[in-house]
Amino acid sequence: MLEGGKKDLDYVGPEELRRVNKIRRDFVANVSHELKTPATSLRLLAESVVETIEEDPDQARYFAEQLKNETERLGQLISDLLDLARLESEEKVPTPNPVDVRHVLMVVLGRMRRVARSKDISLQWKRFGRSAQYEIPGDETQLTSMFTNLIDNAIKYTPPGGRVEVTGGSDDLGVSVRISDTGIGIPEGKLSRIFERFYRVDKARSKETGGTGLGLSIVRHVAENHGGRVAVESAPGEGTTFTVYLPRG
Ligand code: ADP
Repeated sequence: MLEGGKKDLDYVGPEELRRVNKIRRDFVANVSHELKTPATSLRLLAESVVETIEEDPDQARYFAEQLKNETERLGQLISDLLDLARLESEEKVPTPNPVDVRHVLMVVLGRMRRVARSKDISLQWKRFGRSAQYEIPGDETQLTSMFTNLIDNAIKYTPPGGRVEVTGGSDDLGVSVRISDTGIGIPEGKLSRIFERFYRVDKARSKETGGTGLGLSIVRHVAENHGGRVAVESAPGEGTTFTVYLPRG
């Protein structure tokens, strides 16, 4: 990976170097832009609290609540950026340990169940055969973050009353996990871009649901750092399926 480190840059020509420098510049510009919006909101909300606290404490409390939500979002953005920076600086998991993918999914599904229920979405777990082997060499924290992002997106982009299904399979070569939803889907022309940092199909909707636009970049890096890959199929208005494939070694 060219952005990975100096070592790669020693071997590239001026054209490639220019391209890499442009990617870096664009990234800094994007990050600054993404941080500017919440920073402005925080200032405006803090001013509103100061202005209303004496005369209208209820209103001030409302602004303070908003201030808290906005701060949490900013925290999430910074934490996603740090995760991504770490993942991008590695080409593979530094110290892989045996990880049971089924166990990781159980934990993530357990955590997401409440969110799904609050949106009236049925979150189903399917066909992870008991006898099959779901152990792969990997990093449990990274895998947890990858599946959390995928399942969280599936719930976020599925209207109430819908369904999210997680299915697993395993063979001699590796483990595959499919996360399908009955949500809004992604237009065909946008599919190739969704793994880019900060790319959102619908900027307004993603902001509304608290998205940072970094989730799928993290997903792709985790899969690749495990020697695997992630694929997506979607039909607008019908749903989306992400499939992660993780090799056994
Ligand atoms: P975000 O934080 O905006 O969710 P992601 O990187 O996780 O960012 O996803 C990028 C974009 O891909 C989202 O903004 C959304 O438009 C689209 N997307 C991701 N997952 C789904 C899904 N399951 N259904 C529909 N659209 C999705």
